[in-house]
Amino acid sequence: MGLLNEIAEKLLKNFLSLKEDDWIEWIAQPNDWQDDCDKFNGCYFIVKQMPKYPQHPRCQCQLEKIAKPKPYITANATCDIRKFTGYIFDEEKNKGKKKLFESWGYTIEDSEYLQKLYISQAIQKYCNGEYRYAGVNDYGAKINIIITLTNQGGVKQHINTIWKLGQKGNIDLATPYSGHSY
Ligand SMILES: [Zn+2]
Repeated sequence: MGLLNEIAEKLLKNFLSLKEDDWIEWIAQPNDWQDDCDKFNGCYFIVKQMPKYPQHPRCQCQLEKIAKPKPYITANATCDIRKFTGYIFDEEKNKGKKKLFESWGYTIEDSEYLQKLYISQAIQKYCNGEYRYAGVNDYGAKINIIITLTNQGGVKQHINTIWKLGQKGNIDLATPYSGHSY
């Protein structure tokens, strides 16, 4: 039994006291272990959709219980309009997505509308814990959010989108369409 064990035990006890609908801020301890812990530092997660904890033996990350995030107050979503103008509707880069979005009645002219719609739906869903933790890439943690597009005829498309999880309740759109959600 050493100090490390005592610390680990204390952290684990704290974790076990959390309920699945509680929210936490992940606080990583700086280290050079090449783990993913740093990517979660400062991120807000609902307990039922958070990375594995502890991440690894001797992980000393702390989970600090926080209030449920509030849209536009303690959480914000950003979406670069070029995800639509320069990707979905780009003649060369769209890989079939332009045709798909156009079949639902959207053109490049609707890019600003789609940007606003994505932001408002994503921030509400994230703050409600209606997202799925989707692992990490080189840049950080990712989450999936289902966005619903309703065309003029009232037909709904439920599509998967991927967001990069930033610090302090910030999410940023990474992938505007990663398949359908049925
Ligand atoms: Zn850790």
